[in-house]
Amino acid sequence: MTRQLLSLQKLVGQLQKIPYLASKNIYKVVGYFLEASVEDIEKLCKVLREAKENVDACACCFNWAEKNQKCSICQNSSRKQDIICVVETWHDLMAIERAQEYKGLYHVLGGVLSPLNGIGPDDLRIKELLNRINKSTEEIIFGTNPTPEGETTASFIATKLPSHLLISKLASGVPTGSSLEFIDRVTIAKALSGRQPF
Ligand SMILES: [Zn+2]
Repeated sequence: MTRQLLSLQKLVGQLQKIPYLASKNIYKVVGYFLEASVEDIEKLCKVLREAKENVDACACCFNWAEKNQKCSICQNSSRKQDIICVVETWHDLMAIERAQEYKGLYHVLGGVLSPLNGIGPDDLRIKELLNRINKSTEEIIFGTNPTPEGETTASFIATKLPSHLLISKLASGVPTGSSLEFIDRVTIAKALSGRQPF
Protein backbone atom coordinates (compact mmCIF):
# COMPACT_ATOMS: atom_id res chain seq x y z
CA MET A 1 0.00 0.00 0.00
CA THR A 2 1.46 3.39 -0.97
CA ARG A 3 1.91 6.18 1.56
CA GLN A 4 -0.41 8.48 -0.41
CA LEU A 5 -3.24 6.02 -0.28
CA LEU A 6 -2.79 5.67 3.45
CA SER A 7 -2.96 9.48 3.89
CA LEU A 8 -6.07 9.60 1.75
CA GLN A 9 -7.70 6.86 3.79
CA LYS A 10 -6.86 8.68 7.00
CA LEU A 11 -8.48 11.86 5.69
CA VAL A 12 -11.62 10.01 4.59
CA GLY A 13 -11.68 8.23 7.95
CA GLN A 14 -11.53 11.53 9.86
CA LEU A 15 -14.31 13.08 7.80
CA GLN A 16 -16.47 10.00 8.31
CA LYS A 17 -16.43 10.81 12.02
CA ILE A 18 -18.27 14.10 11.41
CA PRO A 19 -21.90 13.22 12.14
CA TYR A 20 -23.55 15.87 9.96
CA LEU A 21 -21.47 15.34 6.85
CA ALA A 22 -23.55 13.16 4.53
CA SER A 23 -21.52 10.20 3.30
CA LYS A 24 -22.26 11.11 -0.33
CA ASN A 25 -20.51 14.47 0.21
CA ILE A 26 -17.37 13.15 1.87
CA TYR A 27 -15.50 12.52 -1.39
CA LYS A 28 -16.40 15.98 -2.68
CA VAL A 29 -15.02 17.54 0.52
CA VAL A 30 -11.88 15.41 0.28
CA GLY A 31 -11.46 16.55 -3.33
CA TYR A 32 -11.85 20.17 -2.25
CA PHE A 33 -9.18 19.79 0.44
CA LEU A 34 -6.74 18.06 -1.91
CA GLU A 35 -7.15 20.70 -4.60
CA ALA A 36 -7.00 23.68 -2.20
CA SER A 37 -3.75 25.59 -1.71
CA VAL A 38 -1.53 24.75 1.25
CA GLU A 39 -2.17 28.32 2.51
CA ASP A 40 -5.93 27.79 2.53
CA ILE A 41 -5.58 24.47 4.35
CA GLU A 42 -3.27 26.05 6.93
CA LYS A 43 -5.71 28.92 7.40
CA LEU A 44 -8.55 26.45 7.92
CA CYS A 45 -6.55 24.44 10.47
CA LYS A 46 -5.62 27.68 12.26
CA VAL A 47 -9.17 29.06 12.53
CA LEU A 48 -10.48 25.65 13.56
CA ARG A 49 -7.95 25.45 16.38
CA GLU A 50 -8.58 29.07 17.41
CA ALA A 51 -12.32 28.49 17.49
CA LYS A 52 -11.83 25.34 19.54
CA GLU A 53 -9.67 27.22 22.03
CA ASN A 54 -11.54 30.53 22.17
CA VAL A 55 -15.23 29.74 21.76
CA ASP A 56 -17.33 28.78 24.75
CA ALA A 57 -20.99 28.86 25.76
CA CYS A 58 -22.37 32.33 26.62
CA ALA A 59 -22.81 32.43 30.39
CA CYS A 60 -26.26 33.98 29.96
CA CYS A 61 -28.00 32.20 27.07
CA PHE A 62 -25.60 29.35 26.11
CA ASN A 63 -25.27 30.51 22.54
CA TRP A 64 -21.65 30.17 21.38
CA ALA A 65 -19.50 33.16 22.32
CA GLU A 66 -15.85 34.16 22.72
CA LYS A 67 -14.56 32.69 25.96
CA ASN A 68 -15.49 34.72 29.08
CA GLN A 69 -17.72 37.05 27.08
CA LYS A 70 -21.43 37.26 26.49
CA CYS A 71 -22.52 36.29 22.98
CA SER A 72 -23.14 38.92 20.31
CA ILE A 73 -26.92 38.69 20.84
CA CYS A 74 -26.78 39.19 24.63
CA GLN A 75 -24.32 42.08 24.10
CA ASN A 76 -26.60 43.81 21.60
CA SER A 77 -28.53 46.36 23.67
CA SER A 78 -30.81 47.22 20.74
CA ARG A 79 -32.44 43.77 21.00
CA LYS A 80 -35.58 43.49 23.12
CA GLN A 81 -34.43 42.47 26.57
CA ASP A 82 -37.89 41.44 27.77
CA ILE A 83 -38.49 38.48 25.40
CA ILE A 84 -36.63 35.18 25.56
CA CYS A 85 -37.00 32.57 22.82
CA VAL A 86 -36.22 29.10 24.18
CA VAL A 87 -34.57 26.81 21.62
CA GLU A 88 -33.07 23.33 21.76
CA THR A 89 -29.76 23.96 20.06
CA TRP A 90 -27.46 26.59 18.64
CA HIS A 91 -28.40 25.61 15.10
CA ASP A 92 -32.08 26.20 15.90
CA LEU A 93 -31.09 29.66 17.16
CA MET A 94 -29.25 30.29 13.89
CA ALA A 95 -32.29 29.14 11.89
CA ILE A 96 -34.46 31.73 13.69
CA GLU A 97 -31.80 34.41 13.27
CA ARG A 98 -31.66 33.74 9.51
CA ALA A 99 -35.36 34.60 9.29
CA GLN A 100 -34.50 38.16 10.52
CA GLU A 101 -37.89 38.49 12.21
CA TYR A 102 -37.03 38.00 15.87
CA LYS A 103 -35.32 40.80 17.81
CA GLY A 104 -35.37 39.44 21.36
CA LEU A 105 -32.99 37.24 23.36
CA TYR A 106 -32.55 33.46 23.34
CA HIS A 107 -31.99 30.61 25.72
CA VAL A 108 -30.33 27.46 24.37
CA LEU A 109 -31.45 24.41 26.35
CA GLY A 110 -28.84 22.04 24.97
CA GLY A 111 -31.35 19.37 23.92
CA VAL A 112 -34.77 18.05 24.88
CA LEU A 113 -36.17 15.91 27.66
CA SER A 114 -35.82 12.30 26.60
CA PRO A 115 -36.34 9.73 29.35
CA LEU A 116 -35.51 6.89 26.94
CA ASN A 117 -32.07 8.39 26.39
CA GLY A 118 -31.66 9.24 30.07
CA ILE A 119 -31.97 13.02 29.52
CA GLY A 120 -33.84 14.65 32.39
CA PRO A 121 -34.45 18.28 33.46
CA ASP A 122 -31.06 18.53 35.17
CA ASP A 123 -29.29 17.67 31.91
CA LEU A 124 -30.76 20.75 30.19
CA ARG A 125 -30.24 24.44 31.03
CA ILE A 126 -33.70 24.79 32.55
CA LYS A 127 -32.48 25.96 35.95
CA GLU A 128 -30.36 28.60 34.21
CA LEU A 129 -33.42 29.79 32.26
CA LEU A 130 -35.52 30.12 35.43
CA ASN A 131 -32.65 31.96 37.15
CA ARG A 132 -32.29 34.57 34.43
CA ILE A 133 -36.00 35.42 34.27
CA ASN A 134 -36.63 38.61 36.23
CA LYS A 135 -39.29 41.28 36.66
CA SER A 136 -38.45 42.89 33.35
CA THR A 137 -38.99 39.62 31.45
CA GLU A 138 -42.39 39.79 29.75
CA GLU A 139 -42.58 36.94 27.28
CA ILE A 140 -41.18 33.46 26.75
CA ILE A 141 -41.50 32.04 23.24
CA PHE A 142 -41.02 28.31 22.89
CA GLY A 143 -39.02 27.70 19.74
CA THR A 144 -38.53 24.02 20.52
CA ASN A 145 -39.02 21.73 17.55
CA PRO A 146 -42.53 20.37 16.83
CA THR A 147 -41.58 16.84 17.86
CA PRO A 148 -43.06 14.90 20.83
CA GLU A 149 -39.84 15.56 22.81
CA GLY A 150 -39.84 19.25 21.90
CA GLU A 151 -43.49 19.64 22.95
CA THR A 152 -42.95 17.72 26.19
CA THR A 153 -39.93 19.85 27.04
CA ALA A 154 -41.86 23.09 26.42
CA SER A 155 -44.81 21.86 28.51
CA PHE A 156 -42.52 20.87 31.37
CA ILE A 157 -40.76 24.25 31.40
CA ALA A 158 -44.08 26.12 31.11
CA THR A 159 -45.20 24.64 34.44
CA LYS A 160 -42.12 26.15 36.12
CA LEU A 161 -42.45 29.69 34.74
CA PRO A 162 -43.65 32.63 36.85
CA SER A 163 -47.31 33.45 36.31
CA HIS A 164 -46.73 37.07 35.19
CA LEU A 165 -45.16 35.94 31.91
CA LEU A 166 -46.82 35.79 28.53
CA ILE A 167 -46.00 32.33 27.18
CA SER A 168 -46.22 31.64 23.47
CA LYS A 169 -44.97 29.17 20.92
CA LEU A 170 -44.16 29.33 17.24
CA ALA A 171 -47.32 29.25 15.13
CA SER A 172 -48.28 26.21 13.15
CA GLY A 173 -46.74 26.21 9.71
CA VAL A 174 -43.64 24.63 11.09
CA PRO A 175 -44.40 21.03 10.03
CA THR A 176 -44.90 18.53 12.86
CA GLY A 177 -41.86 16.34 13.42
CA SER A 178 -39.56 18.67 11.54
CA SER A 179 -36.50 20.55 12.73
CA LEU A 180 -36.21 24.35 12.59
CA GLU A 181 -32.82 24.19 10.92
CA PHE A 182 -34.36 22.70 7.76
CA ILE A 183 -37.23 25.17 7.48
CA ASP A 184 -37.07 28.12 5.14
CA ARG A 185 -36.75 31.71 6.37
CA VAL A 186 -40.23 32.81 5.32
CA THR A 187 -41.94 29.96 7.19
CA ILE A 188 -39.96 30.71 10.36
CA ALA A 189 -40.69 34.44 10.08
CA LYS A 190 -44.43 33.69 9.74
CA ALA A 191 -44.31 31.22 12.65
CA LEU A 192 -42.76 33.95 14.80
CA SER A 193 -45.04 36.81 13.85
CA GLY A 194 -48.12 34.57 14.18
CA ARG A 195 -46.98 32.98 17.44
CA GLN A 196 -49.78 31.65 19.63
CA PRO A 197 -50.41 31.54 23.37
CA PHE A 198 -48.95 28.35 24.81
ZN1 LIG B 1 -25.86 35.03 25.04
